[in-house]
Amino acid sequence: MKKLVIAFAAMLAGLAAASAQQYPNRAISIIVPFSAGGPSDAMARILAERMKSTLGQNIVVENVTGAGGSIGVGRAVRSAADGYTISFGHLGTHVANGAIYPLQYDMLTDLEPVVLLPSNPMVIVSKTAVPAKNLKELVAWLKANDGKVSAGTAGAGSGSHIAGVYMQGIIGSKFQFVPYRGTAPALTDLVAGQIDIIVDQTSNSISQIRSGNIRAYAVTDSKRVPSAADIPTVDEAGLPKFHMTLWSGMWVPKGTPKEAITKLNAAAVEAMADPAVRKRFEELGLEVPPRAQQTPEALAAHHKAEIAKWWPIIKAANIKVD
Ligand code: ASP
Repeated sequence: MKKLVIAFAAMLAGLAAASAQQYPNRAISIIVPFSAGGPSDAMARILAERMKSTLGQNIVVENVTGAGGSIGVGRAVRSAADGYTISFGHLGTHVANGAIYPLQYDMLTDLEPVVLLPSNPMVIVSKTAVPAKNLKELVAWLKANDGKVSAGTAGAGSGSHIAGVYMQGIIGSKFQFVPYRGTAPALTDLVAGQIDIIVDQTSNSISQIRSGNIRAYAVTDSKRVPSAADIPTVDEAGLPKFHMTLWSGMWVPKGTPKEAITKLNAAAVEAMADPAVRKRFEELGLEVPPRAQQTPEALAAHHKAEIAKWWPIIKAANIKVD
């Protein structure tokens, strides 16, 4: 009998080891908390496509939108902690949301960091009908139309919203924010002239700027974006304090086995080292973080530091949720 129990225990241990070795043995889902075709969605899809070949499993992008991304993040937090659900997000969803929404989760302790992803500055863009031709003229126009200018966002607490709130504070003028489920539909409305401006992620607006369908005034950084080098920086164009970099990341629900996190991290690191992937990111104006920053530990440290930096700014702005 004792022998049998030992044999059974050994068999179970063997099975457990085999199933652990097999991770991943089915499709993985990445929850993107904004609409398809937007900047978060684009980055997640480029990475998913390449990570698929490292992991040997399909990676499905699910767009779970609403409430500035907090609905999608909440869905990921409540998913099984088995390595098959990834929460994709950024400075808006995983930092700003915590300062303005009464969330059902804690963004630091209910998620485990996987990897820090590329970042880019925001770009101030308007519909072509806005009369301003440069940033100084735009600021004058915004002030002259205080409280009347419509600014598209991906919802309260999204990157585009936080950037807009930050800009309002710097120039001392108010916008009327128009929330969308992502900046893809906001950009469509900007091109159509339905809204006036967006303080958008550069990667989202870049192709419409190139086609001349919207006007770009400045990127919110001290250096120009190489793939859109004709757009001045805010320092050059006259708003030197307005620096903001929107970084992204991947997390998994708390309690996800370490081995799954290690494999997901390795697949993302491999994807970001692939020249074809890097070329696509470059075209979008996205900057891949240095290799030393691509560890779960580096994301954890960055995440904490960004919460410490942004929460006081956001709380002081007294943002209302939509
Ligand atoms: N990342 C964008 C934002 O926060 C939204 C999106 O991906 O559609 O504004």
